[in-house]
Amino acid sequence: MSCYGLVCTKPPGGFAMMRPRLACLVAALTVATSMGSAIAKIILEPPPEVSAPMHRAFYDQLRKAVDNLARFDDPAVHRVYAAAMASPGTIVFRPITADPSTLATDNDPDRGHTEPADGRPKREGRTRPTGAVIFLPMWGVEQGKRAGSGLLLHELVHALDMTTGRYSPDNRTRERRAVFVQNAWRARVGYKLRTNYHGYFRTLDYQESKRTGRFDEYAEYLFTRDDSPDTTANNGTPHMAAPFKKR
Ligand SMILES: [Zn+2]
Repeated sequence: MSCYGLVCTKPPGGFAMMRPRLACLVAALTVATSMGSAIAKIILEPPPEVSAPMHRAFYDQLRKAVDNLARFDDPAVHRVYAAAMASPGTIVFRPITADPSTLATDNDPDRGHTEPADGRPKREGRTRPTGAVIFLPMWGVEQGKRAGSGLLLHELVHALDMTTGRYSPDNRTRERRAVFVQNAWRARVGYKLRTNYHGYFRTLDYQESKRTGRFDEYAEYLFTRDDSPDTTANNGTPHMAAPFKKR
């Protein structure tokens, strides 16, 4: 099944009067709905309003990056991609630009983020399949060294959780799930493993799973449940605010 040839269409009536981010999310949801269930679940084409040459370059690189991810030599990574393709919801991508509506809440242009297409707060979690919009900086889809950080894969886990209805209302749980498989990627490409989430809490599930020989068991959480293993390395520690520096 290929999704390379799909073209997103503007919803009837347009969305010029809406706030930019809401318009973006509604557009994505409309696209997802109109696609139906028999068409690819990861859309790699830009919607009509994303037409600048720089944006076309983003989608060209995105196709290569997703193809690379689909062929990646790691069962857990490949399974995230396969599960996303098979999930009931639809995933679309947007480049992070100078447009404020593409930025994360902290306005950091390097901060990839994934938003539910229904526009409702993430803190509500999702128990039903929901479309996802992944926002990435250009470096997140290029083949350079920085892409080795696994940002695309990290965001794809968030999207998968949305499109399968396994999106926890707890941010810490969501990030632990994403960092777990992101670290599996990093281990393969020789990139430094993440040990915490921007200094706020520890993200040692991958390291612990390898140390205890339970990687497959941990990975299964991603595809069958909405939480993370109850571990000494993570749950045994209080919320981390001071001990770590942001990076
Ligand atoms: Zn995340």
